[in-house]
Amino acid sequence: MAYKCPRCGGDVQRGYSSTSQMVGGLVGALLVSAFKGFECPKCGPIPSNEFSSADRQSMMLGSVGFIVGAIAVFVGVIALLAWLNS
Ligand SMILES: [Zn+2]
Repeated sequence: MAYKCPRCGGDVQRGYSSTSQMVGGLVGALLVSAFKGFECPKCGPIPSNEFSSADRQSMMLGSVGFIVGAIAVFVGVIALLAWLNS
């Protein structure tokens, strides 16, 4: 889903920091993409409080969905392992 930059009206993208990708690897990159703010190609990183409340709400739902999905996969794998071992 694309959000609009509150400063210039252009499309923003999820902020991907190359530094944190190097430090944290894949997990770090995933966490960064889930929790970090957005970045405008022209204006740079945009703090989430500059977006409209509607945008913030759907961003938060996106992050929650991401976490719920990760937990669901985790629980599914555990359940599968438990079933295989029974
Ligand atoms: Zn911008």
